[in-house]
Amino acid sequence: MTRWLPALALLAACAQPAAPCVQVGLAEQAFGDALQSLSLVCPECKTPQLLPSEAVDPACVFFIGPRIRVVYNRPELERIASRYGYPAIVGIFGHELGHLIDHHGGKRTDELSADMWAGCTLGIAGLPVSPLGAYLDDEGTKVDGTHPAPPKRKDAIADGAEACSQIWDD
Ligand SMILES: [Zn+2]
Repeated sequence: MTRWLPALALLAACAQPAAPCVQVGLAEQAFGDALQSLSLVCPECKTPQLLPSEAVDPACVFFIGPRIRVVYNRPELERIASRYGYPAIVGIFGHELGHLIDHHGGKRTDELSADMWAGCTLGIAGLPVSPLGAYLDDEGTKVDGTHPAPPKRKDAIADGAEACSQIWDD
């Protein structure tokens, strides 16, 4: 796991009080930095293309042959941030980053594992998981048929947060 920590930490840093990631633009930028960091630890990995588009809700990673594209819906993320609080969007970007980490790690990506990485990002940031949990409770079932039910996802997020909140303790 340590191999991926710099990328997760970059995304988490955007959520610190000194640099509050209250705007989607900042989360986007932090996510871009995190992707750069992934390419440093994994030179053989393709750098994903970031593409804002209102065709997804709220974000999705596409693996198309050798190409990787992360698509995210900016207005929708703005809405989620203002309704549930910015930790929710840090968690959503953490989830997409998790898909990429699993893919780069040669693991078949699955939603609960990506949720664990989302929790890990929040745990590193010292942010609560409840905003992401509230979003999933309210809207987690509308997304599509590809994601498990919200209670399972919230368990995975809590597990990831728990595992990663210990990382900086001496
Ligand atoms: Zn996913």
